[in-house]
Amino acid sequence: MKTIGIIGGMSWESTVTYYQELNKAVKHIEGGFHSAKVIINSIDFAEIEVLQRLGRWDEAATILCDAAKSLEKAGADLLLIAANTMHIVADQVEEAVNIPLIHIVDATGQKLVEQGISKIGLLGTAFTMEQAFYKQRLTDKFGIEVIVPNGVQRRLVHDVIYDELCLGKINQTSKQDYRAIIDDLVENGAQGVILGCTEIGMLIQQEDTDVALFDTAQLHVEAAIREALK
Ligand code: GLU
Repeated sequence: MKTIGIIGGMSWESTVTYYQELNKAVKHIEGGFHSAKVIINSIDFAEIEVLQRLGRWDEAATILCDAAKSLEKAGADLLLIAANTMHIVADQVEEAVNIPLIHIVDATGQKLVEQGISKIGLLGTAFTMEQAFYKQRLTDKFGIEVIVPNGVQRRLVHDVIYDELCLGKINQTSKQDYRAIIDDLVENGAQGVILGCTEIGMLIQQEDTDVALFDTAQLHVEAAIREALK
């Protein structure tokens, strides 16, 4: 089994999910006492959040590249950035190390193609919903059309992530708001919705809606396990 290196802490709430789900998956596949070989470099999200807000992506990239190098040095065979947003700097991270990075958009795109989805709704931080790095990769690499909520809804989705989910708060009103936004995406032609922020799965699960949901944290874990157990 290969050792999975995780750049975590963005936020730590969802890094917990990664750690649990990786171990559950290995236990399920290998049985007995088997568990995942994992090294986590959990960074201080407060430092990253400020840099995101100020658009100082190169400085954020340096922090992630240093974390990636330390994971490689510690013996990781492959790398995960346990967040969607920070894939903005995925290219720099990939260049900083000699071990493969499992890209969260690729893990998601592969699943969408398998399910025959050609038009998908995307929820995530404003960076993820509004900048090109995420949507463009889904379109260019997987031929998938991506739609996002309107401006007011995007603000709400973003604020719930930073003001609630990254702080471990689960709010029922926010859950209803997200469900209404998901319904609007479907009305606009989405065949499913990407939970494109690794904390959204704490708020909304498949049983909350009839719409097919694609939880990126879960899909990222599944892709990592496939690679680790190859
Ligand atoms: N975990 C998040 C994501 O998947 C949001 C927090 C962050 O900006 O890193 O995008």
